Amino acid sequence: MIEINKKELVKKALSAMENAYVPYSKFPVGACAATADGETILGCNIENASYGLTVCAERVTLFKAYSEGKKDIAALAVAANVDEPVSPCGACRQVIAELAPSAIIYLSNRDGSKIKTMTVEELLPYAFRL
Ligand SMILES: [Zn+2]
Repeated sequence: MIEINKKELVKKALSAMENAYVPYSKFPVGACAATADGETILGCNIENASYGLTVCAERVTLFKAYSEGKKDIAALAVAANVDEPVSPCGACRQVIAELAPSAIIYLSNRDGSKIKTMTVEELLPYAFRL
């Protein structure tokens, strides 16, 4: 496995925020997944006038990765325009636990000056599994 640079991954997550479609919340979130062989997949949150159809950046990113056959997710960075490292919602934690169970998770604030590093188990202990 190649070494995954935390700061580079967070930088990409921050750049992914620029494509966020957030006319309602005005809360852009960006994410970047890295596969074990170093490929990166970007994603951002996509809202909808029917609010419940909104999809968070973490899920857009992981679904995009899986849909492209990139399932060996080694790391996932998430960034948002907040002072402290962003906290993924419960739904995303569940999806991360299933689609990227061994990933290292990097949670960042708005400029990458504060990055929280976590395991998936720390992010969602006792996750639901069939
Ligand atoms: Zn979420």
